[in-house]
Amino acid sequence: MKNCSTYKSTCSYCGVGCGINVNKDAKGKITVDGDPSYPVNKGKLCSKGMNLHYVVQDTSDRLLYPQMRWSSQHELQRVDWDTALTRASAVFKSIIKKHGPDAVGMYVSGQCLTEEYYLANKLTKGFFQTNNIDTNSRLCMSSAVVGYVKTLGEDTVPIAYDDIEHADTFMIAGANPAWCHPILFRRIEAHKEENPSTKIIVVDPRKTQSCAIADLHLQLNPGTDIVLYQAIGRAIIEEGDLDWEFIKNHTDGFDTYRKEVLARTLKEASAITGITIDKIKLAARYIGNAKGFINMWAMGLNQSAQGTNKNLALLNLNLITGQIGKVGAGPFSLTGQPNAMGGREVGGMASLLAAHHDLKNPDHRQKVADYWGVDHIQEKPGKTATEMFEALHSGEMKAIWIVCTNPMVSLPDSKFVEEALKKAKFVVVQDISNKADSIEHADLILPAAGWLEKEGTMTNSERRISHLESVIPAPGEALPDTEIFCRFAQKMGYHGFDYNSTEEIFKEHAVLTKGTNIDISELDYATLKEKRSVQWPYKNGKSTNRLFTDNQFFTPNKKAQIVCTGVENSSDSINTELPLILTTGRIRDQWHTMTRTGKVNKLNQHIPLPFLEMHPNDALTRGLKDGETAVIQTERGECRVNVNISSDIKQGVIFMPMHWGKISNQIFARTNNLTANKIDPISKEPDFKFSAAQVVKY
Ligand code: SF4
Repeated sequence: MKNCSTYKSTCSYCGVGCGINVNKDAKGKITVDGDPSYPVNKGKLCSKGMNLHYVVQDTSDRLLYPQMRWSSQHELQRVDWDTALTRASAVFKSIIKKHGPDAVGMYVSGQCLTEEYYLANKLTKGFFQTNNIDTNSRLCMSSAVVGYVKTLGEDTVPIAYDDIEHADTFMIAGANPAWCHPILFRRIEAHKEENPSTKIIVVDPRKTQSCAIADLHLQLNPGTDIVLYQAIGRAIIEEGDLDWEFIKNHTDGFDTYRKEVLARTLKEASAITGITIDKIKLAARYIGNAKGFINMWAMGLNQSAQGTNKNLALLNLNLITGQIGKVGAGPFSLTGQPNAMGGREVGGMASLLAAHHDLKNPDHRQKVADYWGVDHIQEKPGKTATEMFEALHSGEMKAIWIVCTNPMVSLPDSKFVEEALKKAKFVVVQDISNKADSIEHADLILPAAGWLEKEGTMTNSERRISHLESVIPAPGEALPDTEIFCRFAQKMGYHGFDYNSTEEIFKEHAVLTKGTNIDISELDYATLKEKRSVQWPYKNGKSTNRLFTDNQFFTPNKKAQIVCTGVENSSDSINTELPLILTTGRIRDQWHTMTRTGKVNKLNQHIPLPFLEMHPNDALTRGLKDGETAVIQTERGECRVNVNISSDIKQGVIFMPMHWGKISNQIFARTNNLTANKIDPISKEPDFKFSAAQVVKY
């Protein structure tokens, strides 16, 4: 660890990826500031980033040493690292030998650093010889990934944040960046202040804080997004605001698309979506007349049983108007987690291969297998996040290694997940906090180092890779995740895990990208430290801020694909017993399951307790007054929270934040007790935004 007092890092919360200066005084006390020289945030931080030092300094909940139990009848006991990893390797070897490699799996996180992700993927796909590794990014970005691959030929975000200051029209769909991506939102806000003619369309069933700068709020009926985007597409066609030149030369599929969108009248679309024809036409006019149009979206689209098709329907609006590959224009998925993109780069999902190689391609599989020095990599995709827990539940899988994520709170249908963990033969939990709920069912607990306690890299939402320095030692016996994986691999007798530094792991990943669309093979830590960050691909010493400026896409024929979607939907159906639509989301000052932000008093003051947002008419018919406790019921289970009556939400829709668990005997807010284990058939992303529900007085 260095002795200097200021270190460079990147915020460990959302995918905006703000640059942070970490100051350490002579007594080791840490404070943080936004890095004024960092292009993403130019010195600013949101409330969560600003308070990161409290999280680092409060070690009261940290896991400090490995713990293990010999069977479910035994208590957990403190053990040393050697005993812990010897046992882990013995159990994994025995299960793989007896039941085959697909009986084990790893469930990792978009908060892992790229090097950690790379090793977890290498360990699982290369050496366990199963593709059963998935990440909680499955719950966040997998629909966007499939959307990009189908239309642009690669999992890639084409634009840079700098495009914000050049755009004149934004559509923010299924996202509340004012609370969930605050620094980006402030850039949009400042841009609109300076350029009042900038048009902003917000698409959301709730009137969120992001609507404060909206020129047009399309408060659609939940689940009708595809119909809305197709209707806007139709209105753009009818107004003649297409970019014919771009469509003709750089896309496929427009004729089929035109037939699909013209098959439904605007009147029919209006009846389905709840948006007036005038508003649909106005949105189409804003987009059709834009000089630079940025289409931003997040979980409102992705977390759906129709997530892939919602993404495609939205992306089509950029393609028919030629709003991609030029300054101030493009589709832009907002990433929830700090390193969801880095995880995809190293292939840390069940359906991916390292360095964006294609798991379905035998040459790619052999190339990666040779690179890792193993015989082969399985062709069959692994089980995704929810599928792994189904397999643990059914007994098909026996062991799971959970790294830096809290599935009992964050996966849908929490009770099912808890049952799955109870049924598993061996559960490893590798985490920083003793508040991770899965610990209750762990057979082995491995204490990991946290932010500032290890070095590595992350990639933010605009493909920007940054290096995070190690600033302080980890408490107790906690180790960096990379070291845990390497020590375990050596216990397993695997070769190729004897790195001398974290940078060696990074270089191994980087070299594998050579010749791919995400090529960073020239990149090393020295360059990252000198330049502070670069955007991939990084070739000939140059970062790439914007992709497709030559209109050559990553598809085989170099054309973008306009893909028709259909509107089939396997979400819950509302009925007389469950007449309300429950949608879930985040609040400004909490992060995921609150294992970190929940420790900070300042952050808890913003909204101290969970709540149910409900329209006044829905509250009235149920005899509920503001602040009273309500019971929310779905087919999966129930929660109890206080009601927040608000006309900002559509009648018939209710909203709960996803962060809390049990607060007291009266208040129980584990939202995923209510959500269904229903997934998009293509992206396998769960549907958190549409659960049929009822609300009654407590
Ligand atoms: Fe951190 Fe995101 Fe806030 Fe930036 S906007 S400080 S990355 S939480």
